Amino acid sequence: MKIAVFDSKSYDIESFNETKEQYIKEIGTDELSVVLDFQFFEDRLTEKTVKLAYGFDAVCVFVNDEVNRQVIDALVEYGVGMIALRCAGFNNVDVAYAKNRIKVVRVPAYSPYAVAEHAMAMLLTLNRKTNKAYIRTRDHNFRLDGLVGFDLHGKTVGVIGTGKIGQVFMDICRGFGMNILAYDKYPNEKLQVEYVDLKEIYERSDIISLHCPLTDDTYHIINSKAIKRMKKGVIILNTSRGALIDASALLEGIRDKEIGGACLDVYEEEAEVFYEDQSEMIPTDEVLSNLIMMPNVIVTSHQAFLTKEALNNIAYTTITNLKDWYSGRELVNEVSV
Ligand code: NAD
Repeated sequence: MKIAVFDSKSYDIESFNETKEQYIKEIGTDELSVVLDFQFFEDRLTEKTVKLAYGFDAVCVFVNDEVNRQVIDALVEYGVGMIALRCAGFNNVDVAYAKNRIKVVRVPAYSPYAVAEHAMAMLLTLNRKTNKAYIRTRDHNFRLDGLVGFDLHGKTVGVIGTGKIGQVFMDICRGFGMNILAYDKYPNEKLQVEYVDLKEIYERSDIISLHCPLTDDTYHIINSKAIKRMKKGVIILNTSRGALIDASALLEGIRDKEIGGACLDVYEEEAEVFYEDQSEMIPTDEVLSNLIMMPNVIVTSHQAFLTKEALNNIAYTTITNLKDWYSGRELVNEVSV
């Protein structure tokens, strides 16, 4: 089975090759007849690059590949039978259009710890300014002015989306002695948490962390109207999907000092810039450049998932998805709408 892996980086190649070897050892000789021939492309899958998929049985894509109608038409025409997402979110695939034409599978969970821990790491960095302290001490500047943070203990965090990642994040926050408020369109009655409506999340939270998927409902869930309701000085964390936040409204809120800080692992227009070294290029996205320039904004390049454990789990589940399809077994991770 030939699989074209798009938007692949050195760590993807390493984890896929390692996991494939491990997988083959584990499943025994019976299944060795299934040969997974991965070919790795650095390019993202888009209308321009879809030609690369010609001659492959499946494509494997990540968060910023653009699997729209045109791309799906081309894949179907080339005889590609499966789109294997190596992530949980599938907002970048037109799943409805793919229905009954090409299979779509995903990795529903690979390490909620990776993402939740990164969210807390960003919050701690922003609050305690360890990024700035690190640069100062490297320069033998041992002054502390401008590095004052606040105790997280006793502060209220509003968590939007209480699925796998949101739950781990809430556990971490509990460990810090924080008060937790939660909002979810489908509240989980089993969780010991105070569910409130969005209005109350905005009005009562010192920190708001987004852990819901990007859907029509959640697009720009954080917009200027929501920001106006929030406590002055609120800190916003987004490790979920960029388009949950209206970035221009966020920038305005920061400029007006209504928002006390933002930790962004994702950004609405990230597809053109994240995962690339653009350090020698003139920036073209003014909103992103302005956000990065703010002293109270931290941006990471959609890296919350990036732990050894998560990469291995992504590779393992993706290989299982591909092998199940090849063997005609039920696709437990199929995405359908
Ligand atoms: P999950 O499916 O376990 O949980 C999502 C939760 O959001 C569910 O409880 C669901 O009921 C809730 N939800 C759905 N619609 C909602 C709405 N309109 N308003 C509020 N809540 C709503 O997913 P997860 O594994 O916890 O992942 C959450 C998100 O994290 C993913 O959708 C993905 O976008 C993002 N993610 C980011 C990274 C990264 O590297 N930054 C990695 C993995 C996942």
